[in-house]
Amino acid sequence: STRVRFAPSPTGHLHVGNARTALFNYLYAASKKGKFILRIEDTDLQRSSMENEEMIYEDMKWLGFYWDEGPRKGGEYGPYRQTERFDLYKKYADKLLENGYAYKCFCSKEELEKEKEKALAEGRPPRYSGKCRNLSEGEIEKLENRGIKPSIRFRVNKENVLVSDEIRGDIDFKTDSFGDFIIVRPDGTPVYNFVVVIDDALMNISHVIRGDDHLSNTPKQVLMFEAMGFDIPKFAHIPMILGPDHSKLSKRHGVTSINAFRDQGYLPEALFNYLALLSWSDENEREILSREELAEVFSLERVSKSAAVFDFEKLKWMNGIYIRNLDEDDFFERVKPFIVKSGTTDIHYIDENSERVKQMALSVRDNLDLLSDIGDYLKIYFEYPETFDEEASEILSWETTPVVINMLKEEVEKAEEIDGVKYKEIVKKIQKEKKIKGKPLFMAIRVGLSGKTKGPEVDKLATLLDKDEVLKRLAKVSA
Ligand code: GLU
Repeated sequence: STRVRFAPSPTGHLHVGNARTALFNYLYAASKKGKFILRIEDTDLQRSSMENEEMIYEDMKWLGFYWDEGPRKGGEYGPYRQTERFDLYKKYADKLLENGYAYKCFCSKEELEKEKEKALAEGRPPRYSGKCRNLSEGEIEKLENRGIKPSIRFRVNKENVLVSDEIRGDIDFKTDSFGDFIIVRPDGTPVYNFVVVIDDALMNISHVIRGDDHLSNTPKQVLMFEAMGFDIPKFAHIPMILGPDHSKLSKRHGVTSINAFRDQGYLPEALFNYLALLSWSDENEREILSREELAEVFSLERVSKSAAVFDFEKLKWMNGIYIRNLDEDDFFERVKPFIVKSGTTDIHYIDENSERVKQMALSVRDNLDLLSDIGDYLKIYFEYPETFDEEASEILSWETTPVVINMLKEEVEKAEEIDGVKYKEIVKKIQKEKKIKGKPLFMAIRVGLSGKTKGPEVDKLATLLDKDEVLKRLAKVSA
């Protein structure tokens, strides 16, 4: 059965890179009706924290990456946090030592550092000399009695390792590029390359789908799967994500952390869709694909070998599409916090005038790329400019404009309230009595009501503003 895992280190919020890795795992599991497992790789005690872990859970949930097994969920292969698995790692390290697949290395940091410098100076890949490879029991005892804490090294006895990758094909690695590597540090903490193998094996992972920055680790991991007698999972290394200038995507290209996208008013479903298109494509070249559609059509065969370029503009465009496709109530619920944040109006006003504010928000929805754009467009209902821009002044200078505005004001004063029907009636009346129509009529009303030449449909302005507010505004421009 298909079992995949996403294995973040809890060092902060998810960012575009690991979110895309999580997504590909999620989609692959969904496409195969398999299981998606979350494993927290928190062996780096300095950089990991519970707070960071919470951020990951939060981001995963926001994006809808629900895990079938993992922390906060459970499962029969747990625990799913590596710090809770140290006894297991110890057991396997002891076994490797016993079988001779690993050995204790007493070389000091300084010694190793010197070796490394020398290799680099001579243009060789730094590789352990193998000094402690064949220490006798007696020598080991003597060193340990001196209080020297050894690291544990994996004994590499092969010249080549073949890695079969679902995306890149077969890759032959020469082991002399790395040599005997450390699997447990002198302080007893096991290293990533070692624990990942134990976890992937014991959690029955069928496919390891991860970023290709890990490709160079894979031959080491393959050697350890073999040494511990585990089945080797299938590997799929996905290409990296570049910024618009084709250098590795980073903060200087724009926001990259998932919570920042959320704060800017991206919808999770838009980001979900967009991330899926980073080095994967639909065979029918569709770009707007729902979660369900993606879960159906996703395949590793269509993951490309080449890096993806993150296109912020395209993501924005896509977000706009998703915003427009939201059900009206859902849209209003989601945009509300952004209205409050923009300071356009407060939550009390919104709660008391819920239906009206909803209609206001809907009247400007087509303009939004991001939910956070709402303030800029909505303020037409809450602010009237002190001064008019050039275009608005031009319209105010037309000789028909005061005629329209004065009559509009009179009619609104007379009316009990302005609804759609009443508004139409008034406009017809002005048209008929004053013989003004088209632009001179509608632009006069628009500028009169909003002080601007652009904005939502005029009837929306007229009907969604309070009658008093309409009169106040018209008073400012009437002679
Ligand atoms: N903790 C590793 C990372 O975040 C996981 C690598 C892997 O998937 O094996 O890069």
